[in-house]
Amino acid sequence: MEIEVRKLNALKKYEGEFHFDYEPPTDLCLIPLCKIDGNVSVSGSYLICEDDSVDIELTVNYVISGQCSYCLNAARKEISFTSDVLYVTQKDDDNYFYDGIRLNLKSAVDDAILISQPDIILCREGCTGIDVTNK
Ligand SMILES: [Zn+2]
Repeated sequence: MEIEVRKLNALKKYEGEFHFDYEPPTDLCLIPLCKIDGNVSVSGSYLICEDDSVDIELTVNYVISGQCSYCLNAARKEISFTSDVLYVTQKDDDNYFYDGIRLNLKSAVDDAILISQPDIILCREGCTGIDVTNK
């Protein structure tokens, strides 16, 4: 998931779009009994500024599947999340850092996946948990 900033600068392609398929590390899903199902689709656009900072808008699309947090039945949720980030060549506390040559989107993408994850997933809307009554 790299953007070759120096090369793009040389080609005067200061803005553009990208698309990657990303295989997320298994520990990136924090919901118990669930996992990220398949790859994460990452797409977005970049804008290289005069000071070599790179403004990036990225969207992650992925599916979480596993067991309902309330009743343990099979559950699945599609998630789409867009974030705006800035990569800079001088380290600071607010932005992502890169060396001015090429930029790796992995930290921003991992963060977007973590931020966009729900705390729980349910098998259906309004699931109230395991039915313990005998019907
Ligand atoms: Zn349920």
